[in-house]
Amino acid sequence: MRYSVDENGYYGQFGGAYIPEMLYPNVEELRDNYLSIIGDSAFKAEFDKLLKDYVGRPTPLYFAKRLSEQYGAKIYLKREDLCHTGAHKVNNTIGQIILAKKLGKQKIIAETGAGQHGVATATVCALMGMECIVYMGEIDMQRQKPNVERMRILGAEVVPAKSGSKTLKDATNEAMRHWISNPVDTHYIIGSVVGPHPYPDMVARFQSVISEEMKWQLNEEEGTEYPHYVIACVGGGSNAAGAFYHYLDEEKVKLVAVEAAGRGVDSGESAATSYLGKPGVLHGSKTLLMQTADGQVVEPYSISAGLDYPGIGPMHAHLFDTGRVKFENATDEEAMVAGVELSKLEGIIPAIESAHALAALRKMSFEKSDIVVINLSGRGDKDLETYIKWGKY
Ligand SMILES: *Cc1c(COP(=O)(O)O)cnc(C)c1O
Repeated sequence: MRYSVDENGYYGQFGGAYIPEMLYPNVEELRDNYLSIIGDSAFKAEFDKLLKDYVGRPTPLYFAKRLSEQYGAKIYLKREDLCHTGAHKVNNTIGQIILAKKLGKQKIIAETGAGQHGVATATVCALMGMECIVYMGEIDMQRQKPNVERMRILGAEVVPAKSGSKTLKDATNEAMRHWISNPVDTHYIIGSVVGPHPYPDMVARFQSVISEEMKWQLNEEEGTEYPHYVIACVGGGSNAAGAFYHYLDEEKVKLVAVEAAGRGVDSGESAATSYLGKPGVLHGSKTLLMQTADGQVVEPYSISAGLDYPGIGPMHAHLFDTGRVKFENATDEEAMVAGVELSKLEGIIPAIESAHALAALRKMSFEKSDIVVINLSGRGDKDLETYIKWGKY
């Protein structure tokens, strides 16, 4: 596959494993074992069974009739919002926890920003009866109280990161530090296609079930596995990686990634990484990231907590670089309008992250016969307060 990772963990010029020497043994253990473990039939059987009975897969591919009329194309929604816990993130945490068990680990650590990945991790730890510690910035803990309590109900310990800006970046540093001190019994579950090799590739493989299902589902509906467009929002890039995965080598399928433009790409308050980013190293891999002239990471901003990440996964940096994926962006306002529009047209209140993908529709022009698949990464329950505060519905 032309866009897959190479044996050194690179996608073109991006990727790799830029980690402190003390983390080498942990990352090496993972790198040396992940392909053989997830390729094993016992692993696959357990993964598939949990995706079916616990997560609720396959998620429907729903033909959105009224949305289609609105935009003059055949629009399908891949319903990741119907996954257990309300988003695609659980596909990855299920995969990683089975892998952790096969590696003989007893404890799980994770970092979380808005808390969605923390909840997905706490969920699978409860499922497997494994100890779970989630690092979360102290400020994020105040901003996302319900998710903190959700994790605690599920039995996880939530540890505040009190250094630096007290947000995701600092939570990640604390999790890394914990992992260095507990290499033998602990697995670190990263929540997107970011981090040192092999995480981006491993997470993309777990999420690739999304496009695997899309292909046969679309074939049932339309008699072809190949839509004209696949559209997904990008924070770190895991739902987009899953939605694009089995189409990457089919150049006739146009792939569109939508980033959060916040208050506008040039407003200084945005998370449009491909537009604003320069090559640099973040969380263990070389990628595109928002940074100052002297290489300090710029704090991102978006109305949607799941998209305000200063980088994108190295796979997406490469897909941007090669032009295989077209990068669009949507402002807070555009996303909110699109989220309310879907609610009224289809009776589906989307996560504000997913609303960014929907917002791309009005920036594109379609033929009536075009088949468009939008990856609806999550449901809007968690965002109700933001919808209410925005108020225009
Ligand atoms: C976390 C999240 C995202 C962003 O993460 P990716 O890794 O880019 O997919 C998007 N949508 C929802 C609903 C999320 O919870």
